[in-house]
Amino acid sequence: MEKKSTHTQEIFVSEEEKILVWESVKISFEKNFGSEVYSSWLKDISLLKEYNDYLVLGVPTRFFRDWIVSRYLDKILSQIKIFKNSINRVEFKITEENTISATQAYGTNNFNINKVTEIKDSILNYNRLNPNLNFDNFMTGTSNEIALSSSKKICEQISRYNPLYIYGGVGLGKTHLLNAIGIELEKKTNVMFISAERFMYHFIKSIKKNDMVNFKDFFRKSSVFIIDDIQFIRGKEGLQEEFFHTFNSLIDKSSQIIISADRAPMKLDRVQERIKSRLAGGLVVDIDTPDLDLKTKIIRKRLEDIQSQFKESSNISEEVIKFIAAESKTNIRELIGVLNRVITFSKIHKKILTISDCKNILKDVFNQAKIITVDKIQNTVANFFNIPLVEMLSQRRSRPLARPRQIAMYLAKKMTTRSLPEIGRRFANRDHTTVIHAVKTITRLSEKDDEMKKNIEHLREQLLEE
Ligand code: ADP
Ligand code: MG
Repeated sequence: MEKKSTHTQEIFVSEEEKILVWESVKISFEKNFGSEVYSSWLKDISLLKEYNDYLVLGVPTRFFRDWIVSRYLDKILSQIKIFKNSINRVEFKITEENTISATQAYGTNNFNINKVTEIKDSILNYNRLNPNLNFDNFMTGTSNEIALSSSKKICEQISRYNPLYIYGGVGLGKTHLLNAIGIELEKKTNVMFISAERFMYHFIKSIKKNDMVNFKDFFRKSSVFIIDDIQFIRGKEGLQEEFFHTFNSLIDKSSQIIISADRAPMKLDRVQERIKSRLAGGLVVDIDTPDLDLKTKIIRKRLEDIQSQFKESSNISEEVIKFIAAESKTNIRELIGVLNRVITFSKIHKKILTISDCKNILKDVFNQAKIITVDKIQNTVANFFNIPLVEMLSQRRSRPLARPRQIAMYLAKKMTTRSLPEIGRRFANRDHTTVIHAVKTITRLSEKDDEMKKNIEHLREQLLEE
């Protein structure tokens, strides 16, 4: 296999994949349009559908779409072509409006069929297995080993456990596993792999075209039926009805069914009892959040892959690997996003990154979920200045107490969403004008006093890190 060049933009995508890694495309947008344009206009573009020759991209509002189309469309297209040359057109959809219609969806009478059917159909889209999501690059740890071994068993012996139901939170590897099963079984038999959302799309389209016979035939003939994100059917009566019949007729002819969801079968509210009990009737396994060990393994594996694929060393030090693994706590998708960002940064700046570089690059990711409370600020500040908290909050006005108190008020204003009166109340019922005075004083001092500036910065960092 010929591998393509080592150009930065191609780090994550090799020619033969032909499936876009949208995140990488966006990294190239950022690089080519500059961070100003990128963060104002392009950051929120999402990849909705990928076809061989065109893409459907989601943008938040009409205004966004018009702005982007009139100014950046050509350049966007040429960037995308670097990753996938067969693309010669992009379409934009307004995601906010679509999300509303998609969630109201079938079951309520006002579902807007036109919005769904805008997208062109093709058999290709029923069955798109991604060759990069396979068993070989699925790393195991205690959080997912049962899900993995069950998936492999299914591949050895079809319909031994039927259905196989895999559930877990977002970004933990469900789609990856389903896809890996699909790739394996496709070697032996015919496989249908579809998301529940896509299933609904075809369902509604068939109703509209009065073509339910074909729909039923199509979905009931597969030997292996893999359906991703089944929670999507919640609250959609018509869809559930159809799914139930599809499910039964597949089981009747001993087709293997594999299902993923974000929660256990019995926790699927607004789903018919008879469906829930069918879903729970085979083998139910879960995927948990990864531990440190698994996260480290995943990072190492990706670095190895990049290295062997593109014959470049990645410049990511052992301490940075450990840092990323420890800090990325949400899920594996985030972990990989974070890693990509670090790799790209190190390439662009041709530098071996330190932990403190990484902290900077990843500030927004890691701090997102942190909730900073007034309590925490008060404790941190009192600790920092080595004074008892009760003293800091007391009415005493001596400078060694008053300054830290003002700093804590200042930070409370800057780092929480509390209003001035609320902050005042938490400082032993002080008036909001006292808080205003504190904010002004500290702002002024930190502009001219280096020591103050350093202390504030230090406290901020400490609060964000804890
Ligand atoms: P989900 O469907 O549960 O939301 P995905 O299957 O889309 O999650 O996984 C998110 C990302 O994490 C994908 O890029 C996937 O390849 C990767 N991933 C998840 N679990 C693993 C694993 N065990 N080993 C390697 N990569 C993983
Ligand atoms: Mg998924």
